[in-house]
Amino acid sequence: MVNLLNFNQPQLAQWFAEQGEKPFRAKQLMRWMHHFGVHDFEKMTDIAKVLREKLATKAEITLPTVQLEQVSNDGTRKWLIGTDDVKTGSANSIETVFIPEDDRGTLCISSQVGCALECTFCSTGRQGFNRNLSVAEIIGQLGIANKSLRAESGYDMLPLSDRIISNVVMMGMGEPLANYDNVVTAMQIMLDDSAYGLSRRRLTLSTSGMVNAMDKLKEDCPVALAVSLHAPNDALRDVLVPINKKYPIKELMAACERYLVKAPRDFVTFEYVMLDGVNDTVEHAHQLLDVVKNVPCKFNLIPFNPFPDSGYETSKPSHIRVFRDILMQAGYVVTVRKTRGDDIDAACGQLAGKVLDKTKRTSKRIPIEVIA
Ligand code: SAH
Ligand code: SF4
Repeated sequence: MVNLLNFNQPQLAQWFAEQGEKPFRAKQLMRWMHHFGVHDFEKMTDIAKVLREKLATKAEITLPTVQLEQVSNDGTRKWLIGTDDVKTGSANSIETVFIPEDDRGTLCISSQVGCALECTFCSTGRQGFNRNLSVAEIIGQLGIANKSLRAESGYDMLPLSDRIISNVVMMGMGEPLANYDNVVTAMQIMLDDSAYGLSRRRLTLSTSGMVNAMDKLKEDCPVALAVSLHAPNDALRDVLVPINKKYPIKELMAACERYLVKAPRDFVTFEYVMLDGVNDTVEHAHQLLDVVKNVPCKFNLIPFNPFPDSGYETSKPSHIRVFRDILMQAGYVVTVRKTRGDDIDAACGQLAGKVLDKTKRTSKRIPIEVIA
């Protein structure tokens, strides 16, 4: 059975055509599935009964399974979502996080089960990689969160104009550009007026700097861009963000400049994790200013969120302030990310889900206690 959550509108129109049905049905279906969150064909009242019955024999609309929903003291919510067929007996899972703020509600979506890129300060990277998420599993995270938040608000079918989720960030587990096709299709559904109708400016993709895919993204689906920079020179970035060995800082900066020609916003957000004594000195701040000088940008400083055996510590608040002030005095907008939801391990870099590592990396690693 085909899961219709895997299709964007043109693909769904094509599927209807293959069934001998009118392609415009795709628009109706997108509205029911995504806009209203109705997944039972029987309830789709503007579709003739015969067609509803035919659909039920050929297709399904199935969200991934929620294994656990947690609410933090600060209102942040986290869903643990199963990503395997129970029949296979394997137990992978991913995480999705909702962060409510006064003026917006942001959903942080995962793109892969684990991540193959091995950034040393990231718990997802430490876990290894299992597989890419399907389109249904990516867009399904928005479906699950919407359903749960709507139920909470007492409205079963809250109009999307009263959005609880106003912004989406592709910043959960995984490197979104390493699962390019599925992530782009899912983002097209988020942007589709018949589905979620999100504006390109409110949809942000965060990448560790896959330069080839950034060039493709600006043509296929330009959305707001965040880049995980984390170091102001190649020697340090090679260690913290190993993909830097393939795409060094100079190439990354050039790709950011090219991206901005097509981007919905006129700046890139550089994310910079603050690691005590590693990348947070006055010297680093000055190097950073030099490195980004040709790229219109904002900075988002992220105090490192610890996890067991990480080997890193969070920068001291006074060091973060000094670092921030140097960037601000140079005329940049700088935000220091507030840690949200850390009591339920929902903060940046703490998302772990459950990953059965296929890269064998985790088994090769020598446990810290053995080294000590
Ligand atoms: N793979 C993508 C998006 C997911 S990570 C990327 O790397 O950009 C989202 C952000 O959290 C990235 O900037 C990432 O570097 C940062 N991050 C990872 N681990 C972290 C940690 N332990 N503390 C704080 N930020 C972390
Ligand atoms: Fe992957 Fe991003 Fe974590 Fe690096 S920071 S390991 S790219 S999820």
